[in-house]
Amino acid sequence: MPWVDEEKCTGCEVCVKKCPVEAISMQDEKAEINMEECIHCGTCHSVCPQEAVRHDGEKVPQDIKANVEQTKRFMQLCAKHLGDAKESDKCLERMIKYYKKEKLIAEKTLGELEQLNNG
Ligand code: SF4
Ligand code: SF4
Repeated sequence: MPWVDEEKCTGCEVCVKKCPVEAISMQDEKAEINMEECIHCGTCHSVCPQEAVRHDGEKVPQDIKANVEQTKRFMQLCAKHLGDAKESDKCLERMIKYYKKEKLIAEKTLGELEQLNNG
């Protein structure tokens, strides 16, 4: 999924004009992508003269870090609000289960998508 590096965006609006589904608007002179509308065509990435439209693959390390930090926060909050330190471990188990489910969904989805590609 594309995202805009605000540090690099100069607000030239080239991407706004070229997006085929009008998914990009300007907010405070920076391009903003509406992911509900975006069809992932890659045009904005290709046309941006500043290379400000980035791929989300670049965010993988930050996303992992954010997930781990969020899990740690939930663990602390579970222990605090449920009044038992053991709740922290239970919370961790639930989060591991959650990410395993997400992994399964991703793997199964990939399998289905690869079949689409071959068909
Ligand atoms: S084309 Fe690039 S620099 Fe211009 S508004 Fe879009 S993201 Fe910003
Ligand atoms: S990827 Fe395509 S549809 Fe999505 S914001 Fe960029 S130009 Fe628009």
